[in-house]
Amino acid sequence: MYIWFFLVVGFALYIFFDASKRTSKARTPFLWLVAVLFFPYITIPLYFIIGRTNVIGVDKSTRLPLKTVICPKCGKENSIEDNACSKCNNNLQL
Ligand SMILES: [Zn+2]
Repeated sequence: MYIWFFLVVGFALYIFFDASKRTSKARTPFLWLVAVLFFPYITIPLYFIIGRTNVIGVDKSTRLPLKTVICPKCGKENSIEDNACSKCNNNLQL
């Protein structure tokens, strides 16, 4: 039965890091992590349905991710249309 434990922990870690990359809110990945550990059968399928659409800069009409730019100062991913970093307010215009 240990295989299920490792599967759930594996999924929880994958979702945690995946959500970290996709959301600008620092709290969201932790909520997913906790939710997956307690309710894996509900939250793992749910994450792949709704969690992955919570991407920075998704085009509303095509649902494709917009091009992003990494802040050179703090490493935060921002939409290419942003003039300043959403985290540290660093100027992103070259
Ligand atoms: Zn920044």
